[in-house]
This record gives sequence, C-alpha cells and structure tokens, in this order.
Amino acid sequence: MRLVAPIHASTSWQTKDDGGFSQADFTIDGENRQVTCPNGATSSRWAEDRSQEGAAMIRTQFPTAVCRPCKARDQCTRSNNKSDMGRRITLRPQAEYEAIQQARAQEDTQNRKEQYAHRAGVEGTISQGVRCFGLRRCGYHGLAEARLQHQLTATAMNFHRLDAWCTDTPRARTRTSHLAALRPAG
Ligand code: SF4
Repeated sequence: MRLVAPIHASTSWQTKDDGGFSQADFTIDGENRQVTCPNGATSSRWAEDRSQEGAAMIRTQFPTAVCRPCKARDQCTRSNNKSDMGRRITLRPQAEYEAIQQARAQEDTQNRKEQYAHRAGVEGTISQGVRCFGLRRCGYHGLAEARLQHQLTATAMNFHRLDAWCTDTPRARTRTSHLAALRPAG
C-alpha cells in the first residue's frame, strides 16, 4: 500500500531560525551508526529507543567536549547543562527516514501534485460513505464479507447519486470550519 500525503515540516527552532543547523544539515550514516555535523564532528551515541507512543526511534548525541567549545554552537544547541552540552538528534528508523526524505524530495514535482489530486477527488466520496452509509464500521467477520459490504455500499452510493442527479438535488456546500466562519466578508 502506498500512502500519498503531505509531509509535515520540522518544527525545531533550528529549522525556523535562519542559519540554524537543522537535521537536514547533518549527514546520517545508518550503516556505521554515526551522524556527522556541519562542523565535521561525529556523534558518540547511537541508541535505539521508543517514543512515549511506542514508535521506534534512534537517539544520537555529540560529545559535550566537542560541542562546548564549538564556534557554531549557537546555531546548533541551546543546552545550558554544563555536563551535557552535546547536540542531540532523534532519528526515525532507516527505512522510515529514507521514505520521508524521498517523499519530501518529490513533494513539489508535477507527478506528485497529480497523484495528490486523485486523493483530493476521492475525499468527498469517502466522506459521503462515512457520514451517510456507515462506511467506518464493518458488520461482518472476514475479508470476503467485508469486501461484499463495501461493494454493496458503493452500489447504494451510486444509486443515491443517480437519484440526486435525476431530481436536480443541489450538491451540499463544503463545510466551513468554525475558524473560517469568523473571517470577515471581503
Ligand atoms: S555544536 Fe556540536 S554538533 Fe553542533 S556544529 Fe558544533 S560540534 Fe557540531
């Protein structure tokens, strides 16, 4: 299954701060379990861990003795703990990291925009299925019966749409969020 979705931008201060060293400025060497910073220093820690939500992650850190005297430190870390001043970087497992990098690289391409347009087109159909036809819940056990339910739901939706078309029923308006509703009329 291939997921086509926008990739969230990093929210770290290093990404927002002009001149900050974000994760993209570091070279990741998964094979040798090491990270190299823009200053040429290499990490001293590479530990596999899990987030609070249970997601696999890799925690890396640079040695305090290297980062403390570094002239570029202000662009890199704000840690004030004198005994623990090394830059830390948290990474996703290699396969996930590479998939995200690949998706980011393709995000602005025409091919990607066309793929995403397909998704945007089917969102309304999925929404109608969920809101009007109970698509989110399966009343049967097993893939075969679940598939049959989905096919019957799709058939019912087609009849519903045909009826709306034959009776000139106007389309529902796109829902306006509470925030958008506060916007002054222009
Ligand atoms: S603070 Fe540490 S990790 Fe950051 S650039 Fe300097 S040496 Fe590299």
